[in-house]
Amino acid sequence: MSEREAILGDLAERARFYASLSSVGIPRGRAVPEEAGGELKAIRDFIGDCQRCKLARGRKNIVFGQGNPHAALMFVGEAPGADEDEQGLAFVGRAGQLLTDIIEKGLKMRRAEVWIGNVIKCRPPQNRNPEPDEILSCQPFLEQQIRAIRPKVIVGLGKFAGQWLLKTMEPISRIRGRLGTFEGITVVPTYHPAFLLRNPAAKKDVWEDIKVVRDLLSAG
Ligand code: URA
Repeated sequence: MSEREAILGDLAERARFYASLSSVGIPRGRAVPEEAGGELKAIRDFIGDCQRCKLARGRKNIVFGQGNPHAALMFVGEAPGADEDEQGLAFVGRAGQLLTDIIEKGLKMRRAEVWIGNVIKCRPPQNRNPEPDEILSCQPFLEQQIRAIRPKVIVGLGKFAGQWLLKTMEPISRIRGRLGTFEGITVVPTYHPAFLLRNPAAKKDVWEDIKVVRDLLSAG
C-alpha cells in the first residue's frame, strides 16, 4: 500500500469514528435498556466539573437528575433551586414534595421507579429563569439522557421544560392538555409543581394530565 493510500485509509477510518459520535462526543449507543445505566454514567463523566456556561460560577453542585435508568416515565423540570443545589438532587425542596405526591398518590408509583431531571443542571442565581445560552450549553446532556433512558412518556413540568421538549415558544397555558413528542417519545406538558404551590386551583388540570400519563403507561 502506498503512503497516500495509507493516509486515505486512516482518514476514512477517522471519519467513520467521528460520525459514530453523538453531539456530546460520546459514541452513539443503541440505548438498549440494559445499557442505560452505563450510558448515563458516561454522560455524567463527560459533564465533569462543567464550566461550559456562566452558571458554573455560582453553583454548589451539578444536579444531574436521578432515578431509574430504565424508567418508563421521566419528569423534566426547569432548573435546580436552592435545596437541589445544596444536595445535588433534583426536586428535593417544596416543589419536589408536591412532585412526590403526584408520583405516589396520583400515579401510584414510587419516586425510585421514575427518572427526574431538569432542562438545566445548575442553579440560576436567585432562581431566575434560565437564559438561552445556558439552555443551549446544557441541552446536549438532557438529549443524551433521554436517548439513554428512552422512557415511554416524558412529563414536561412548566414552561421551560414544555417548550424545550416540544420545540415551541407557545405559553404553557396553551401547550398543556395537548400531547406532543420528543424524538418519538410521548410528551405530556403540564404545570410546574412550584406554580401549583402558588395556584392550587390549577391542580385539577394537572390531575387531568396525570390520568393521561397513567393511561399511556398502562397501554400496551
Ligand atoms: N424546580 C425545578 O424545576 N427543578 C428542580 O429540581 C427543583 C425545583
